[in-house]
Amino acid sequence: MKNLVRIVLEGTYSNVKRIFFASDRVTDMDLRSKILEGRIVPTDKVAEVPCIGCGGCKNVCPTGAIEMVELEEPVELLEGLVKEEIPVLDSIKCVNCYYCHDFCPLYALFGEAGTIHPNDVGDVRPDVREMLEKPVKISEDKIAFIAQYLSDNAIIRKKEDQKNSK
Ligand code: SF4
Ligand code: SF4
Repeated sequence: MKNLVRIVLEGTYSNVKRIFFASDRVTDMDLRSKILEGRIVPTDKVAEVPCIGCGGCKNVCPTGAIEMVELEEPVELLEGLVKEEIPVLDSIKCVNCYYCHDFCPLYALFGEAGTIHPNDVGDVRPDVREMLEKPVKISEDKIAFIAQYLSDNAIIRKKEDQKNSK
């Protein structure tokens, strides 16, 4: 009987501590407060300024989670190269395969951090003008491999048809 009373009292004491003083809670209290107060801000998925707007990420995305949207003001990156669109990533459709990041030419061709990331693109600031003016050393095989994802398949087919008809 004495033991039973002790167990009940100890249980009551632990629960009071848990409820009123948040002891034993695994979830971070700061994070809880942020969620309850609506202070969670979604992270950026696209670094809009250095993105060159090539649309490669949209082409490789297997779930159609990326849409290219028109910029209000097109941006001239280099003479004759104008950025007209930037990607927008829909996290609900995303399956975190990282294709968009890994095939982004900034990463795949120039070895810079890709300007799109399914979780948080972070602070990405390559000098795009300088980067685009640099010669790219890359094997033909790799170019063909990347091109089949980054390009419109119809364009590749057309080129092959032209080659075959010569
Ligand atoms: S990580 Fe998400 S958005 Fe990127 S290619 Fe994969 S599914 Fe698409
Ligand atoms: S592949 Fe990279 S550079 Fe091209 S539109 Fe997507 S994020 Fe921008």
